[in-house]
Amino acid sequence: MEATKAAVEDGNLTVHLPGPGFFDNLLSVLFPLRCVHCGASGNWLCRACAGALIPVGPENCSRCGKPSLYKVPDCPECRGRSLPFGSARAAFHFEGPGRSLVHALKFGGQRRLAMLMAAISFGAARLTVLEKDVTLTHVPLHRSKLATRGFNQAELYAKALSRLLGLPHKGLLEKQFPTPPQNRLNSKQRRKNLAGSVALREGAKTGNGRVLLIDDVYTTGSTAAECSRALRKGLGVEVDVWTFARTVKG
Ligand SMILES: [Zn+2]
Ligand SMILES: [Zn+2]
Repeated sequence: MEATKAAVEDGNLTVHLPGPGFFDNLLSVLFPLRCVHCGASGNWLCRACAGALIPVGPENCSRCGKPSLYKVPDCPECRGRSLPFGSARAAFHFEGPGRSLVHALKFGGQRRLAMLMAAISFGAARLTVLEKDVTLTHVPLHRSKLATRGFNQAELYAKALSRLLGLPHKGLLEKQFPTPPQNRLNSKQRRKNLAGSVALREGAKTGNGRVLLIDDVYTTGSTAAECSRALRKGLGVEVDVWTFARTVKG
């Protein structure tokens, strides 16, 4: 471990501060890392739990991305349904370690997990953005939520992905009013709950390409649809959706 050094150089006292590794080492001694899923010490995600993540895989509904066993283009939910985004894709099933990672970032405040989540999912994300002219944006939080949580987990994940994919990230959307939590609502209630709550940020601009909307989890698609509607209406762009995880049951 490199230590702080002080020396007199040319008659002046010069202090050589240790590199960033020193602080990381110190932090890891004071607050040892634990696996977010099983609690084993050493890493954010231990080898066994990393191996237990369930990738969504290539066989899925061409629109909502729901994994399918039947190799049909659209799942029964999407047949005849009008969606404001081209496709929605995700890296992992929202269960087991995938769910624990999302919760540790969102509710545990472990912001540095966003980089780990981007690192283990960007290979799959890259397959969905083969064109170069793509701008990443994130699902917004209302400022009251931002004030209590201190950060937007979707924004942290989107920024980390943007660095790894080498694609620009812009905050294009804003949540205009707070909405009650969605977790106990069905799909219809979720749509109603969110209606009109997301708008384009003042002065938001992007190129002529597509927008990839980023979130941590895709559940019924109501949030993705509300955000995509605002992007299409305000910017006239095509939108695809990428999330770290996706609910698969049902
Ligand atoms: Zn583990
Ligand atoms: Zn579908």
